[in-house]
Amino acid sequence: MGGRLASAALAICLLAGNAQAVFAGDTVYVNCDVLRCRSSAEIKDGNIVKNVYYGDKLERVESKGEWTVVMVNGKKCYVSSQYLSASNPKGTPAPAAASGNSGTASTGGTQISVSSDWKYADFSKIKSGSAVLYKTASSARKNKTVCVNAGHGTSGGGSVKTQCHPDGTPKVTGGTTGAGATEAAAVSSGMTFNDGTAEANVTLALARILKEKLLSEGYDVLMIRESEDVQLDNIARTVLANNKADCHIALHWDSTANDKGAFYMSVPNVDSYRAMEPVASHWEQHNRLGEALVQGLKGAGVKIFSGGSMEMDLTQTSYSTVPSIDIELGDKASDHSAGTLNTLANGLTAGVNAFFGN
Ligand SMILES: [Zn+2]
Repeated sequence: MGGRLASAALAICLLAGNAQAVFAGDTVYVNCDVLRCRSSAEIKDGNIVKNVYYGDKLERVESKGEWTVVMVNGKKCYVSSQYLSASNPKGTPAPAAASGNSGTASTGGTQISVSSDWKYADFSKIKSGSAVLYKTASSARKNKTVCVNAGHGTSGGGSVKTQCHPDGTPKVTGGTTGAGATEAAAVSSGMTFNDGTAEANVTLALARILKEKLLSEGYDVLMIRESEDVQLDNIARTVLANNKADCHIALHWDSTANDKGAFYMSVPNVDSYRAMEPVASHWEQHNRLGEALVQGLKGAGVKIFSGGSMEMDLTQTSYSTVPSIDIELGDKASDHSAGTLNTLANGLTAGVNAFFGN
């Protein structure tokens, strides 16, 4: 076993043309969102021992070109050398102005999987992935967890169907799936911006920025998706938020192409829908969260569509037992540069603060 692993690593090292350098147990840090620790020096299914995350500290045993041997849970694992750095990429943040205390914005995350015991978990068809819970390291802890759900990004999600409503009744509005349907795509693939960028990439980019801002504000953050693909459908994402978060914010851009502005998907004003559980017990909270986020965005100077909301019967809403909203930050024609995403994240953070009364 050991010999086979060593020769595999050596082969890659030779191919890369790098001289082998040996380190004696120094410390390195993860410099990408998710880094896979493998039992062998090759990228393949089935050799992933553990995922480690941005800023995580690792003990380096040996560096072999493209691959570095690190200790994970007392075992030697291989990680890609390019995603390691000698210093903590999170750095040492400046003291917080209000409290005068310093500390890193977050600690390494904890992976959370869907438990089959959770209510509505049985309705999910894609739930093998996991979300990651980050705890704030701010001294001004809010003791609230915000679920940040980067819309779309589940490969194969478009060809699997899930039930729209827990009671099996048909959808009361149109949307990606038409009114009257009882089943919809487990996770649709999302739209493509006019400039060719996939919506799923932009929702992910915004989610990452929002995560850091919320952690700095003292919120814990449940990240549904941190890479191109997470095997969690809309029901699995919702059930994770229901059980591990105090509110659920799904990030999206709409499929129109006239840069119409941001809005939230409000709970349809249809008696039968608002009478169905869990909607009946939670729809007012959903709308209140949506309203707070739109006001936050408005305050940050973001263009708002019409009255700031559009009624939509969504799978997310139909299974949510915590305040939960789908927010559309713009559409295919909207700018999604880093500066704009930063402004959007500021607005959403202000909205979360307003919602929780901070
Ligand atoms: Zn979307």
